[in-house]
Amino acid sequence: MCGIVGYIGKKQAAPILLDGLKKLEYRGYDSAGIALITPAGNIDIAKAKGKLDVLVEMTDGGKKIKGTCGIGHTRWATHGEPSENNAHPHCNDEKTIAAVHNGIIENYAELKEKLVRRGYEFYSQTDTEVATKLVDYYYKKYGEPLRAISEFALHVRGSYALAVMFKDCPDTIFAIRKDSPMIVGVAGGDSFIASDVPAILKYTKSVYYVDNLQIARLEKGGVTFFNLDREEVSKEIVEITWDAEAAEKGGYEHFMLKEIHEQPKVVKDTLNCVCHNGELDFSEVGLSDEDFTKINGITIVGCGSAYHVGVVMQYVTEDLARVPVRVEIASEFRYRNPVLNGELVIAISQSGETADTLAAVKAAKENGLKTLAIVNVVGSSIAREADYVFYTKAGPEISVATTKAYSAQLVAGYAFAIKLAYLRGKIDKNCYAELLKQLFALPDKIEVLLNSKEQIQKFAAKTMDKKDVFFIGRGADYAVSIEGSLKLKEISYIHSEAYAAGELKHGTISLIEDGTLVLGILTQKDLAEKTLSNLFETSTRGAIIAGIASESVKLPATGLDFVFRIPDVDEHFAPSLAVIPLQFFAYYLSVLRGNDVDKPRNLAKSVTVE
Ligand code: GLU
Repeated sequence: MCGIVGYIGKKQAAPILLDGLKKLEYRGYDSAGIALITPAGNIDIAKAKGKLDVLVEMTDGGKKIKGTCGIGHTRWATHGEPSENNAHPHCNDEKTIAAVHNGIIENYAELKEKLVRRGYEFYSQTDTEVATKLVDYYYKKYGEPLRAISEFALHVRGSYALAVMFKDCPDTIFAIRKDSPMIVGVAGGDSFIASDVPAILKYTKSVYYVDNLQIARLEKGGVTFFNLDREEVSKEIVEITWDAEAAEKGGYEHFMLKEIHEQPKVVKDTLNCVCHNGELDFSEVGLSDEDFTKINGITIVGCGSAYHVGVVMQYVTEDLARVPVRVEIASEFRYRNPVLNGELVIAISQSGETADTLAAVKAAKENGLKTLAIVNVVGSSIAREADYVFYTKAGPEISVATTKAYSAQLVAGYAFAIKLAYLRGKIDKNCYAELLKQLFALPDKIEVLLNSKEQIQKFAAKTMDKKDVFFIGRGADYAVSIEGSLKLKEISYIHSEAYAAGELKHGTISLIEDGTLVLGILTQKDLAEKTLSNLFETSTRGAIIAGIASESVKLPATGLDFVFRIPDVDEHFAPSLAVIPLQFFAYYLSVLRGNDVDKPRNLAKSVTVE
């Protein structure tokens, strides 16, 4: 959520900070600010409510604030309204310490009270000002920045990525994180901190993933890491394989459109991680054949679209491998005290930083369960926490509404299900080979769908004034419906519901009125006829009805207001194809309604708070 950037080096810091914050805009924010140590040795702060451009203009692209050491922030308010006063950086009364923070300090009220008793006053409503003044308190007490930061960590509860500058240490940035992402980058004596790789990719591909409760000290010429006892710890540099263009729009109007078009490639790349010479091989994930044969139950946890991947995986894995699969929203799983029985817990997350999913992984581990992460970001918290890691190869996903990461997660899930089914003897060698063939046919079939997007664009133009849209389907078609509906809600702001088609008449059908749009997903041959009947039930009550149907599904010659055909594929994998027109539908409606497609209102890309 939101973003932090820091720079210390030979160049002017402000333009680098603003540029980095621009790259993090996709994470969602409501205000922004920067702080620099000026050549005179003072701390200078500029902040503004609203878009980053306001801050850019205010500082003349950063030229108005001089200095080679600075920190920047885009805020997504949790404590106190979005305002200039509440925007970060925050500082102590003497303006000798400035800090930026992502996350939430849970015990901020208690800490604030203590600080007030010690004579502190507060100018904002934020938990971050409390954090800053807590650091100030310990700095004044111990006279040493590292000690102040470690005392801070010992006294706060919650999640944070925190970067602090001290006037007394003019060429240094201190940073610490807990359950909120932060990386450190280095390049020829310059050092960077950032919430995510795209912010600094232009300057370096050499990064350190800061662990929970590790302190980083960035100075001209190098970075040093410490534990909370202030002992130096050594860390390994990770080389990022994405190039800077991967985080640019590359001629597309929006990141989302670009990312939709990248799906054939990311699906192929993800499958190639676990398929060598026509065989599924999970050794890179850390799962041996023996590990697979021990799996006697699975719980899948995730949030949003990642949860929807879990729903597809449940249908596919239970059907192919005959292993019981439970899929659960991570924020429910973590607090519900579920009965756990030696199952494998699979956590799905694009960023690998989703707070609820991370907590679910920790809860599973505390109960002695093995965990498998399906994540996109290398070195992320969930990846580091889990026993096994399947890295999807989606590359950087910038648009808040996920498309390519969802598709990469789906095929990771299919590959897992096939391998499990085969090793459990539930499918024979021929079936295994056929399923793999079908899986590898997906990229070309997705490509075909990308070329039919105009049909969806025209349909979207006709339906742009709809107030309610329903998505219905059965089985895997239901599983993809919930993703189609979420996509629509996220970026078009049209109210939408996804329903298991058989559930409609148990209440929801009362909402259907003249002109309501109902989309049926029709890829599961044995179930399509039933869903079609449900669609027609809504049309007799005034609905406009549309079918997204596989080629070989028979449809009546009349009655449907719109039909979109998708290529045939093994039915287990049809969600990978059916989702493409649904993504385009949401995309074009968002564009037509003039919305900010890549940065929808109120949403953040990776949700690192509860
Ligand atoms: N909790 C802090 C605030 O409301 C930080 C929010 C963020 O992560 O941007 O200011």
